[in-house]
Amino acid sequence: MPSSLRLLTALALSLLSIVPPTFAAPPPEKIPGQSYYGTERYIEYVAGDLPLVLTSPHGGRLKPDPIPDRTNGVTTMDANTQELARDVAAAFFARTGHHVHLVASHLHRSKLDPNREIVEAAQGNPTAERAWKEFHASIREALAVAVARHGFAFLIDLHGHAHAIPRLELGYALDAKQLNQTDAAFAASGLITLTTLRDLAARLGGSPTALLRGPRSLGDLFAARGIRAVPSPQEPQPGHNPFFAGGYIVRQHAAAPDTPKVDGLQIECHRVGLRDTAANRAHFTKIAAEVLTLFVEEHYPFKFPAPQK
Ligand SMILES: [Zn+2]
Repeated sequence: MPSSLRLLTALALSLLSIVPPTFAAPPPEKIPGQSYYGTERYIEYVAGDLPLVLTSPHGGRLKPDPIPDRTNGVTTMDANTQELARDVAAAFFARTGHHVHLVASHLHRSKLDPNREIVEAAQGNPTAERAWKEFHASIREALAVAVARHGFAFLIDLHGHAHAIPRLELGYALDAKQLNQTDAAFAASGLITLTTLRDLAARLGGSPTALLRGPRSLGDLFAARGIRAVPSPQEPQPGHNPFFAGGYIVRQHAAAPDTPKVDGLQIECHRVGLRDTAANRAHFTKIAAEVLTLFVEEHYPFKFPAPQK
């Protein structure tokens, strides 16, 4: 070894011995199934160990006085959707003995709307803004944990609609006009690269509309079990009916270019027969867990575990 190199090596070694390591210890891993709360317990994150992340932004009921009512945008809650999200989580636990991630806002939508950008969401109130940040940080954390563990994450943002047609509205960040195109026109448009299934579509190739509304699509799997859904082979296009395309949460966390390995969708649920009673919720959530299991296992290199006997 030349003497200059020897000197450098000695110098490097001596530096290593006197400079303490600057790496911060990683935060302790959260325990699957356990709830972690934000500052005022307005935001709850139930940690998971499955690749699914459920979000419930509009099912909260708390109306704390210090947060003024929001004065513009929608302020009505999606009734029973937080219960619905917990029921879906419970259905997965029953099937697998493992936990989905769940991020829920306990604040009523008149105080915070986590499915909007922060200005409309919190309308300038610092406490609401902090809750908004905690909600989205929890989603990012859950997705990162899932991607690190499984190589992908699937985000399901659960809502309730009051439209006249009793069917699920599956929001892939595509509006009615975009979905009303023919399969050929949709394929030519390249729109699939802007959807919440963009990563999956890029990996699989093939027909984008087959993925969204063909056989074995989520809509088809629901319809085959007696729950109408749009888009699906049975109801491929919303037509002129009101339709929710997918909002801020799925656009930000699944459809954006900086969300690699994350897919998902917004599911808007009708009320009667589905989320109006505990018995109907139990019926729907059992089907939802089965449908999501099939879709994930058929499209990702992942098998859900069976519960330990
Ligand atoms: Zn909603």
